[in-house]
Amino acid sequence: MTVVLLPPVTSAPAECHDGAEALTEGPRFVRTRGMSRWHRPRSGVRYSDGHTAYDLWCGYGVGGSHRAGAFLTADEPAPGESVCGTCEGRAAGAGQEQASPTGRQLLFSPRHIDPPKNCPGSRSSELFEELPGGRAGRCLACRDVHPLRAMGGPYNSRYAITQHPPGPGLVGPCPFHRWRQLIARDGRAVCACGREVAQ
Ligand SMILES: [Zn+2]
Ligand SMILES: [Zn+2]
Ligand SMILES: [Zn+2]
Repeated sequence: MTVVLLPPVTSAPAECHDGAEALTEGPRFVRTRGMSRWHRPRSGVRYSDGHTAYDLWCGYGVGGSHRAGAFLTADEPAPGESVCGTCEGRAAGAGQEQASPTGRQLLFSPRHIDPPKNCPGSRSSELFEELPGGRAGRCLACRDVHPLRAMGGPYNSRYAITQHPPGPGLVGPCPFHRWRQLIARDGRAVCACGREVAQ
């Protein structure tokens, strides 16, 4: 039995995740042999050397080779085994369990995972394709057309696309960096880590 994981969003520089794969599903419970209780994974990454790392809801992490016994997984802890209360509450609050433990309706919307209020192309001097006439540009992040303006002070002025809400054509998020590190490449918006994002 697996649960749905959140994307392993990171503020680490883009190159730190070369060859790593963001896991969309993971075990319900994990722990190392040294941990006094079972924890629950929030997100997971599989690295190119085959090792897996899970970030836990309480802030701890486990990682290494599961096959080599670096950590244990379980669908359900054995009777009498302890579960981390922070992990259990947050996992339930995030919808990793079908039923709310209290029976109340729970809402969960992590701020950094939702699409941004302003398109990531906003005020970018790179993420647009100038249209004939030079007064408007097509945003590479969302494909909408907006005016181009000179921005910045006299010492760092640049020509950029104006701030705008994301259009319906907004590219998909990078699992690691969401929309925060988009760059222009061959007339398309891609994540700086090199991962293709859905257009
Ligand atoms: Zn925990
Ligand atoms: Zn845009
Ligand atoms: Zn990325």
